[in-house]
Amino acid sequence: MTVQVGNGERTLFWRDNWINGSPVSRMAPYLFQVIPKRITKRRTVAEALPHRRWIRDIRGGLSVLVLRDYIRLWQVLADMHLSMDSDRFIWRWTANGTYSAASAYRIMHHGTIPLAGSRWIWKNWAPQRVKFFTWLALKQRLWTADRRRRHGLDAHDICWLCDQEQETADHLLVNCSFAKQIWWNMLSWMDCACTFPMPMELHQWWKPIRQMQVKERRRGLDTLVMLILWCLWKERNARLFDNLSSNALEVQDRIKVDIKLWIDAGATRLGCLRHE
Ligand SMILES: [Zn+2]
Repeated sequence: MTVQVGNGERTLFWRDNWINGSPVSRMAPYLFQVIPKRITKRRTVAEALPHRRWIRDIRGGLSVLVLRDYIRLWQVLADMHLSMDSDRFIWRWTANGTYSAASAYRIMHHGTIPLAGSRWIWKNWAPQRVKFFTWLALKQRLWTADRRRRHGLDAHDICWLCDQEQETADHLLVNCSFAKQIWWNMLSWMDCACTFPMPMELHQWWKPIRQMQVKERRRGLDTLVMLILWCLWKERNARLFDNLSSNALEVQDRIKVDIKLWIDAGATRLGCLRHE
């Protein structure tokens, strides 16, 4: 956020980006260090600029570096004058200078690689905790056995659902024989196509599944995928933590109940999937 200073009343002298888009702290870093923090947090340009009152904020002895900064700042400020207008805050990441949440989000993720599949989560209906869980699953951040081992923790290495293969998030949620059975049955019950070409990562599997749907059905399918992932994870946790185990039919029955609950709670696109 840069500031176009008018009367200087809303702009912090030491901290805001008001001198050609930069803060004093960057232009005169050594000088900035000898200004008490509490002063930098409240001193406005309106207070500091007239009669060079900013000089009174300086505390302690002046080293050569501080002195150099001081002279530089003095020269820069010599040509600056306040006006009667209000200060204008300009958001520098959009063309028209107005702040928007979308631009802030872009900046936050500037330079990072977008997570494959994250749009399928955040743009669609699901309880917040389920979205967060799915996001962790896509990022390979669930505490499955492989990850626990990598962090030097104890783990039961074999998958809790099939009792055959190593537990990883991608195995548990997609490639596991128990999970596959659930996916086949539930996706076809919801009139969606399903395929398992080969062992793959969650997002690699999810993508063709949604592409097999006509466009209008994809968001409903995304919600359904999140719901089933969540139920598989809950079943795994019930076996691990509560020593309670359900068979595939029982898990499917619970999924059907949840589908109904989610639709009642507002998942309208999920409700459109099944041809009655
Ligand atoms: Zn398994």
